[in-house]
Amino acid sequence: MPKAAALSPGDTIGILGGGQLGRMLALAAARLGLNCHIYAPEADSPAFQVCAAHTVAAYTDQAALAAFAAKVQAITYEFENVPVETVRFLEGLKPVRPGAKALEVAQDRLCEKDLARSLGARTADYARVSDAASLNAALAQIGTPAVLKTTRFGYDGKGQAKIMTPADAPAALKAMKGQEAILESFVSFDREVSVVAARGCDGAFAPFEVTENEHRNHILHRSSVPANISEAAARDAIEIARKIAGALDYVGVFAVEFFLIDAQGGAVIVNEIAPRVHNSGHWTQDGAITCQFEQHMRAVAGWPLGDASSIGPAEMINLVGPAAAHWRDYLKDGRAHLHLYGKREIREGRKMGHVNRLLG
Ligand code: AMP
Repeated sequence: MPKAAALSPGDTIGILGGGQLGRMLALAAARLGLNCHIYAPEADSPAFQVCAAHTVAAYTDQAALAAFAAKVQAITYEFENVPVETVRFLEGLKPVRPGAKALEVAQDRLCEKDLARSLGARTADYARVSDAASLNAALAQIGTPAVLKTTRFGYDGKGQAKIMTPADAPAALKAMKGQEAILESFVSFDREVSVVAARGCDGAFAPFEVTENEHRNHILHRSSVPANISEAAARDAIEIARKIAGALDYVGVFAVEFFLIDAQGGAVIVNEIAPRVHNSGHWTQDGAITCQFEQHMRAVAGWPLGDASSIGPAEMINLVGPAAAHWRDYLKDGRAHLHLYGKREIREGRKMGHVNRLLG
């Protein structure tokens, strides 16, 4: 597919995935005079409530995908587990930004780490594990403690098992349920940080301020800026993100998650790459000059990127599961911005909304 000209107001961007990220992308697009057509398999997708058009169909339904592509001028995705074949098929019909390459790398923890290392970034030590023999060999090489993770489809700590001593190995392997896995050395980090950044069609690169992230039960709880990180380590993290985006010929917003070690002058260790707008960038909606959702839509439309500077210190708190029932309490703080995702059913561990606050 040749690189298309920039979109015009009134054009339609197709989004694969109908969760809260698709919803917030559609809201940002509407402000720019762009329409969104959301494609998702679930009939009750939260993004459907706010978009101009939607399709309920499987990601493998080529007739539905072709009909969807015919109605849009460019396509993006909000969900990294969209099949790579789906994106390749669509790439033959319309520009897809970011493309299949980014998706392919980000779907596989081994590819992600190989890429990071090839660009000179640090990662945990790692080895591929497919059975008991390769796990034993990996443990001999990497040692304990270590973390065994499925290479694909893991999120929020799912598909992971900690190995404190070699005696934990059989149970950890069983938890992988026969899927290919990666053994990672356990990083004793001081904090977790992320770089959320955009790359435009013209190669322009616009990083948001490095964000500090606090997890609870493996789910992001709080993101805040400024992060407690040295200037040098922040520069390193942003430079790694810039190199990753360049290597993937990336268009759109993405995130790189890092472990931060204060010793050694502040080392940043790449953990994961997310080829999409990211939960740790939600604070930008109220704390940056251009938010991550608008920035992604600008990039996908082939428009110039906005200024990614922060307005001031800010935080985002996720409303996960029953915490969302307290939404009224957040409204008592007139400076809090409440964002709810329109999900009807509160479930344990389900992201229902978030609250942004400027802290200055
Ligand atoms: P992930 O799904 O890879 O983002 O992992 C979820 C969380 O588990 C991370 O945010 C860390 O808190 C923790 N974790 C994952 N991998 C490691 C590791 N190699 N060393 C230490 N902690 C880890």
